[in-house]
Amino acid sequence: MIVSDSPRCATMPQPSIGLYIHIPFCQTKCIYCNFNTYARLEHLIPDYVRALSHEMKIWGELLEQPVVRTIFLGGGTPSLLPASEITHVLDAARKSFAVGREAEITLEANPGDVVGGKLSCWKALGVNRLSMGVQTFDDGELQMLTRRHTAQQAKEAYRRMKAASFDNVSFDLIYGLPKQSLETWRSTLEQSLELDPLHISLYGLTIEEGTPLKQDVESGRLPKPDPDLAADMYLLAEEMLKGYRHYEISNWAKPGYEAKHNLIYWRNEPFLGVGPGAHSYLRGKRFWNIKSPADYVRRLTIDTGARWPFDEMPTVEEWRETDPKEEASETSILKLRLDEGLAIADVESRFGEAEAQRQTNVLRGFATHSLVAESGGVFRLTSQGRLLSNEIFVKLLPE
Ligand code: SF4
Repeated sequence: MIVSDSPRCATMPQPSIGLYIHIPFCQTKCIYCNFNTYARLEHLIPDYVRALSHEMKIWGELLEQPVVRTIFLGGGTPSLLPASEITHVLDAARKSFAVGREAEITLEANPGDVVGGKLSCWKALGVNRLSMGVQTFDDGELQMLTRRHTAQQAKEAYRRMKAASFDNVSFDLIYGLPKQSLETWRSTLEQSLELDPLHISLYGLTIEEGTPLKQDVESGRLPKPDPDLAADMYLLAEEMLKGYRHYEISNWAKPGYEAKHNLIYWRNEPFLGVGPGAHSYLRGKRFWNIKSPADYVRRLTIDTGARWPFDEMPTVEEWRETDPKEEASETSILKLRLDEGLAIADVESRFGEAEAQRQTNVLRGFATHSLVAESGGVFRLTSQGRLLSNEIFVKLLPE
């Protein structure tokens, strides 16, 4: 196993970060997906991995090899990459950053890609968490979503993960689908509980612009999902997943298995995203890379030895200074997503008394409708508040 634990870790002045690595390849494009991912681009993989390694090298030098406490290989379909390419990616991350021995390293996997050889390679590379795109255990729903796997294949993939000593596995499930009933959703949850993963993420389907699913719904080929039914599905999940800690609006974990990488986002802590379209939040700036994988490769494949200042990276499409008012709202909104809630004293110490008072007034307004609960200076969403969270969050934005 290649694990670096640089002595710099103890003395680094800058904060530790999370590292998101985007893998923009998928075997086919699912009808509901609007992520920055592409089918039939596999020929680009070797050049892409070289470019990605180069981007990490540049950032490692620019940021002076910060401590990376989580790595998330997401996409897209990271599990589609040959084991040798994943090896290159993680080697480059370790050469560029101080990746601690305790770092959480997550890889997103599609059930069809979970085969013995890849599993043992991921294990040897220090991957210690797998996030599997199960979506549903109903084959009809999987077909409707144009997923490539069956319910049975997802179960077999999970058993192979366990046999390869991957204990920390998360399931992604999706609800609010066209034609999905409360009963098929209950069955998906029951089958998940039988398998007993340590972490479950639930996503409510949103019908995104420009997707084939949107066309299907608009043309009447598929029925429009019913938002009230989707809310019932969420409440059913809350009821059925009582054995887990409901630590974030959409996430449930056995104690101690909360997703450390995502907690960095929800706590509004710094992270670097590499790869096309990846977003970052560093040194008080939010920025994101150009979306086109081919353009990204063109800008990075040739190492001219040139070095760029922090805010002139050739991959970045746009930079945004964070405005203190926006920052205050965003931080509070993200914290309200968590069961640990929003301590108003933290708002006051970081953003001042006036902002703390403004947010308190907004949240107390929702408390009178039982959407928010206040206890000891900490605000938390109630079960009903989680269903209406967007309405609450909008009111917290700066006026
Ligand atoms: S596998 Fe995931 S990322 Fe790829 S097209 Fe389907 S939903 Fe999108």
